[in-house]
Amino acid sequence: MNRALFLDRDGTLIIDKVYLSDPAGVELIPGAAEGLKRARSLGFRLFLLTNQSGIGRGLHTLEDAHRVNARMVELLGLPEPAFDEICIAPEAPGQPSRYRKPSPAFILEKIKEHALEPSACFMVGDAPADIGAALAAGIAAVAVRTGKVPPEKIPEVAAGKVPVFDDFGAFAATLQ
Ligand SMILES: [Mg+2]
Repeated sequence: MNRALFLDRDGTLIIDKVYLSDPAGVELIPGAAEGLKRARSLGFRLFLLTNQSGIGRGLHTLEDAHRVNARMVELLGLPEPAFDEICIAPEAPGQPSRYRKPSPAFILEKIKEHALEPSACFMVGDAPADIGAALAAGIAAVAVRTGKVPPEKIPEVAAGKVPVFDDFGAFAATLQ
């Protein structure tokens, strides 16, 4: 079966420093590397999908975001490529954007491109936009408690429609 994890970055795999532009500031959330390793070993494709509105707001550059991602991949220490693909949505809220979450566009494109089975795919994130993108794409949403805001603030989580895990590693441990 073709299956995949779509992963948020800030607050899910690394600590959310808000508009992080300095690779030296990258800190992995404990268990992230082990979780990704486990998912990979189970045959999941891994896609990183990150909103980086700091670029659209003029606070840092796309190159900064690439450097931060490269540092994260270095710290993860997984076989290259760690991710099948990385999608950065650089726009600020309100700017026209194809991929900025909660847009499902990236997820839908990858489902088509890799003939993924939607019912076997997950989007994991800490924010309403992550949950929104998952649900709009018709895949399972998973919330984690490693972000800045309690997931219960997300209506779908509060309603019990989306499962919550302490962190990505705890979710990955449940994958079979
Ligand atoms: Mg996040």
